[in-house]
Amino acid sequence: METTDADLIKRAAEALNPQQLADGSWVADVGAAVEAGDGTVHTGASVGGYLSVCAEQSALSQMVSRTGPVLRRVVAVWADPDGGALHVLPPCGRCREFLRVLRQENLDAIVVLGPDHRTTLRELLPVHGWHAEQV
Ligand SMILES: [Zn+2]
Repeated sequence: METTDADLIKRAAEALNPQQLADGSWVADVGAAVEAGDGTVHTGASVGGYLSVCAEQSALSQMVSRTGPVLRRVVAVWADPDGGALHVLPPCGRCREFLRVLRQENLDAIVVLGPDHRTTLRELLPVHGWHAEQV
C-alpha cells in the first residue's frame, strides 16, 4: 500500500520528542520522514544547540545507512509547544543542498509542504550548480 503525503506527515510527527536543553535550545522539536527509493520510510528528529542537526539530516542518516542515497519524498514538521498545532516546514537551505549533494536525481524528489501541497526539490533549489554559466 502506498504511503500518502498525510501518512508521511504522521510519521514525521511520531519522531517529535521536544525537550529543552540547559542553554535554552531544543532537541527533537522538529521531526522528519523521508521515503527512500525503495519505498521504505525513515524518520529522525532535530538535535539542537548551536551546532544543530536538522531533522531531515537525522532521517537521511537512517535512510542512507539502510538503503542508500535515493530519495523519493521528504517532509518535516514542528509542533507548537503552546497548543501543539502541527506545522509542516520546508527544508532549510542547508538541507536543500544536502539532499541534492546525496544524489543529483534527488532534485526530482517530492518535498511535502502539507497534506495537499507538494513541490520538488528542484523548485526549491532552482540554481543549484557550482557555477551558473560559463561567460
Ligand atoms: Zn535543515
